[in-house]
Amino acid sequence: MDVKNQIEQLRNELNQHNYNYYVLDNPIISDYEFDQKLKELQLLENQHPEFFDSNSPTVRVGGTITKNFNTITHEFRMYSLDNSYSKEDLEEWEKRIIKLSGSQNLSFTCELKYDGASVDLLYEKGKLTQATTRGDGFQGDEITANVRTIKSVPLVLQNDFPERFHIRGEIILPKKGFEEMNKERIEAGEDPYMNPRNTASGSLKLQDTSEVAKRPLDCLLYALVGSVNIKTQYEGLEKARSWGFKVPKESKLCHSTDEVMDFINYWDVHRHDLPYEIDGVVVKVNDIALQEELGYTSKSPRWAMAYKFKAEQATTTLESISYQVGRTGAITPVANLTPVLLAGTIVKRASLHNADQIEKLDIRVGDTVFVEKGGEIIPKIVGVALDKRPSGSMITTYISHCPECQSELIRNEGEAQHYCPNVEGCPPQITGRIQHYISRKAMDIEGLGGETIELLFRSKLIENYADLYELTVSKLLPLERMASKSAENIIKGIEKSKEVPFERVLFALGIRYVGETVAKKLARHYKTIDNLEKTTLEELMQVDEIGVRIAESVVQFFDNEQNKNIVKRLKSYNLQFSLSEESIANQTEKLKGFTFVVSGVFHLHSRDELKNIIEQNGGKVGSSISSKTSYVIVGDNMGPSKKQKAESLGIPMISEEDFIKMV
Ligand code: AMP
Ligand code: ZN
Repeated sequence: MDVKNQIEQLRNELNQHNYNYYVLDNPIISDYEFDQKLKELQLLENQHPEFFDSNSPTVRVGGTITKNFNTITHEFRMYSLDNSYSKEDLEEWEKRIIKLSGSQNLSFTCELKYDGASVDLLYEKGKLTQATTRGDGFQGDEITANVRTIKSVPLVLQNDFPERFHIRGEIILPKKGFEEMNKERIEAGEDPYMNPRNTASGSLKLQDTSEVAKRPLDCLLYALVGSVNIKTQYEGLEKARSWGFKVPKESKLCHSTDEVMDFINYWDVHRHDLPYEIDGVVVKVNDIALQEELGYTSKSPRWAMAYKFKAEQATTTLESISYQVGRTGAITPVANLTPVLLAGTIVKRASLHNADQIEKLDIRVGDTVFVEKGGEIIPKIVGVALDKRPSGSMITTYISHCPECQSELIRNEGEAQHYCPNVEGCPPQITGRIQHYISRKAMDIEGLGGETIELLFRSKLIENYADLYELTVSKLLPLERMASKSAENIIKGIEKSKEVPFERVLFALGIRYVGETVAKKLARHYKTIDNLEKTTLEELMQVDEIGVRIAESVVQFFDNEQNKNIVKRLKSYNLQFSLSEESIANQTEKLKGFTFVVSGVFHLHSRDELKNIIEQNGGKVGSSISSKTSYVIVGDNMGPSKKQKAESLGIPMISEEDFIKMV
């Protein structure tokens, strides 16, 4: 078989597997086999750039950067929906439509109202050619490269699709994926995202497509637009599904207003069983000819109506307020409630966010409160029933001292959160740091978990993460419920962590604002911990993408006596405190003094790889073209404005191949 056919066949196969997995939820090969095939394709494509295709399954992993999102004028306006909040309103609307149509037996398509960000996809000759955000309904942003990374969006269609059409849908983050993203953020010491909807819509405007690719986004479709010969909305949904789109099966064709109401009532109760969030139901006149007759108001179609669910509320009593201390010392007030059933789960606690929130609600122990579960996963208190307030209740005064170590709390100018400043002596801060140290993305110490850390701390066996390396099986055995097998595993796991590479050790130290990516940057730049310890604020800020906030935090960390001591001890246990021989061996100074801007799509290396090579060889990576740029490495589809800029500044533009020759 010639290479071209081989590439074609792999692409078809991978598209099909992708469809099985992400649309049908029914994979027929293992993830491993899939990855192998993808790698095979990637290799062939790298060797044969002449067969490049922007809809190859390899684009799903991302790797391009979008600096500015182009504005696109919608070919067909993206309307809003009229909302109804009561069943009476909705029935009114249906009656009106029935009367207008002059027909007694109208049918409606009832769909779930997916809570995400709307998107318009354009398909030409069966291939995705453009994706646009809704924007103001007239114009939106082009986000094609980002949308191509969403696995359930078909890049190539199946069966008998129209030549050219638009399809609309909602980009969402399923609940599970959202919770996993938040778990990782919390592990990394970052604030969790508030809700799936905002996170989904924020993801669409990320500049780095590989970042988008990492997010578990999904795309649910609900409307065909343009020349697509369909008679009814319901038929449209079925057709779209047959072309390979993910169209939820919950939609229902209803032949009476009673049926519509049943659909709404059912989903009002069962929405929590869905893998994604919905905020209501959309009822649409099924007949397309009638839709056209009914037309639009200045903002929405007359043939459709959204019914918005009420955020579910429950009434309960505030029993007490407790205060949690995080790894960074931040204090979070938590409401302890009389347990109450809300949205299918028993709620006992709700976040109160901070002192301002408590003051705003004027919430007091003994109050009857309203709890709500909106888009947010954690329930929140939205109000107090003042008429039910018991007489003699006391105004809540925020704590002034840490509940764990009694230090006086501080609150920085302009910040909402109170902090416990006792970084070194406050127990939850101590255990929090050790828990971060052992976590999966940091040292990933097998056999050790968060609870064991607390047990070890309470038993006075450890006070910081360096102490882990002094543990022995015989020290562990006397602990409650500690079997000799688990003790051995813990010691083995700790021993093995001495092989964890430098960049992860750096991340594990838990320096504020030094997440995974920053740790990598610093490791690559400084190469050893000794260099990093000696650095200055000014030097740090010279490092690509290191701002003043991170720089200050790093300097402060290494200025601290206790930290100095811990790092010294870690060194004595032979942890990896310099880049590996291998990565250093690949480093040269060949590109020293040169700044490169990488622009476009490449065949031999991904953008990240190119940047890596530049940095490995002592060069600098610039983010935009300026007079300081030495070379622009040009790939396919470089934006015309960039090209103009490089030309006007007289900056040489070189190909990927030219660049590889340089090194
Ligand atoms: P609103 O933002 O409240 O005006 O509601 C309109 C939005 O609902 C549309 O822009 C869509 O993004 C979204 N939506 C979610 N599910 C559907 C659906 N099944 N049909 C139409 N629109 C939907
Ligand atoms: Zn404290």
